[in-house]
Amino acid sequence: MSIPNLTIDDCDYDCIVIGAGLSGLIAARNLYRAGHSVLLIEARDRIGGRMHSQQLASGQWIDRGGQWVGTTHHRFRALLDEYGVRRFASPTQGRTVLMFNGDRYEFNGFFQGFYEGERPGVSEAEWRDATEAWDRFQALSAALPAGHPRSNEPNKRLDSDTFARWIEENTQTEFGHWYFSYMARAVGFLGPAEPNQVSLLHVLWGQNCAPQSEHPEADLIHGGAGQIPEKIAAELGDRIRLNEPVLCIHQHETGVAVETAHNRFAAQFAIVAMPPHLSGKIRYDPPLPPLRQQLTQRMSMGCCAKVMISYHTPFWREQGLAGIGIGNGSWIELCADSSDPESGTGVIATFVVGDRYKRWQSLSERDRRAAVLSDLAIYFGEKALSPVAYHEVDWTSDPWTGGAYAAFMPPGVWTGFGEALAASVDRIHWAGTEIAERWSGFFEGALLSGEAAAQAILVNLQSNHFNKRVVLDND
Ligand SMILES: Cc1cc2nc3c(=O)[nH]c(=O)nc-3n(C[C@H](O)[C@H](O)[C@H](O)COP(=O)(O)OP(=O)(O)OC[C@H]3O[C@@H](n4cnc5c(N)ncnc54)[C@H](O)[C@@H]3O)c2cc1C
Repeated sequence: MSIPNLTIDDCDYDCIVIGAGLSGLIAARNLYRAGHSVLLIEARDRIGGRMHSQQLASGQWIDRGGQWVGTTHHRFRALLDEYGVRRFASPTQGRTVLMFNGDRYEFNGFFQGFYEGERPGVSEAEWRDATEAWDRFQALSAALPAGHPRSNEPNKRLDSDTFARWIEENTQTEFGHWYFSYMARAVGFLGPAEPNQVSLLHVLWGQNCAPQSEHPEADLIHGGAGQIPEKIAAELGDRIRLNEPVLCIHQHETGVAVETAHNRFAAQFAIVAMPPHLSGKIRYDPPLPPLRQQLTQRMSMGCCAKVMISYHTPFWREQGLAGIGIGNGSWIELCADSSDPESGTGVIATFVVGDRYKRWQSLSERDRRAAVLSDLAIYFGEKALSPVAYHEVDWTSDPWTGGAYAAFMPPGVWTGFGEALAASVDRIHWAGTEIAERWSGFFEGALLSGEAAAQAILVNLQSNHFNKRVVLDND
């Protein structure tokens, strides 16, 4: 369906922001604070997107989505301070449990004991294999210039490989092999992704733009990360519309018309703030450039469910355990103590990802719970089998996210189509954590991308106002 051309005077808003996750909220807030008229349209019946807290009957808050704050998440830390939201150090005191090939080991810190020479169950040769490969990986990653990977010959070579092939060529031992696969699946490198699904260039870039050495899981938030969207939304008031999936964006020389099932809104500019594959599900009139369409067809979200398990107390601490479990067990490769010290209760956050997620999601609800708790019992003992509450959040089957923690690039996508990732299309601008050049996949990336989109619109609005004034003056 085509609609008549718009004039600037037909525009109800200076900018319509689509998607009320952190990136869209901050973009709308910044434009509003700058004195512009904005509308924020959200598909769900709630704001926050991948940032969503829930209060348990015990009074404890849990984060169903993102939760950790990194030491160099400077913009996000400033936002927490601005809204008076307090952080606490992620509990790590005590011994970490490693489950490797059916055996259970304990050591200090998060692989810290390994670096200090305490390597239960792992031979010197296996550790040397992993660390030497890590040095090679790190050197490749550090050689990438800042910003999104460009489509040049060296990058094309890296982008034609899967991470699995690099692991195969660069590690000789089973531990070395697992160490890198684990990093791709459970911890970092943006996704998470099984190594045979992700481009080598993407994981190198992921380590470069969101380095593990900068401790992205340093802090947690009293009251849950989900309060931040609420605080931003409070400023925006009735400028937010919920339950209105955007179906179509018409673009004209002087404005955009945004259609939902029941409404049509006009503005001078639009910001689409959501994971790229969801932005590709909106219809655009005229159609987007082919490179952008091809890109959004190819960017994949990680397969992931988050499970939060709460207990009367953090009982693992009685055994000197940190509540951190890592390993190659049946279901859980990573779990971490996420207990708020002010609540006194114990909360373990855990993730079922990649191929493990595929097997797990096909089980009955009862078997899924049993699978998670049985792995936790191996990590922390029999008490893990008796939680007070158990919450699964299957982000992969959620139609308004489609996977977690974020999107990753399969081979060939960065160098084939990456230039379309952040490029605005006339009056349509993009935001979302996937677009950020630093801390992509994290709150910080969402914030940076939302701020950048708002700034671009501000510049455009100023030049637009200027154009309009010139026309009027000439009249
Ligand atoms: C399980 C999990 C754990 C994570 N852990 C961490 C962590 O510990 N630390 C960290 O920094 N980050 C973490 N992240 C990532 C972090 O949550 C995200 O990077 C960030 O919240 C993304 O914000 P966003 O605005 O880019 O996208 P989103 O939050 O996905 O927001 C997009 C919004 O667009 C809406 N939308 C989609 N389609 C339409 C449509 N057609 N019309 C209208 N609205 C639409 C969606 O409903 C959604 O509200 C985690 C994420 C998950 C899921």
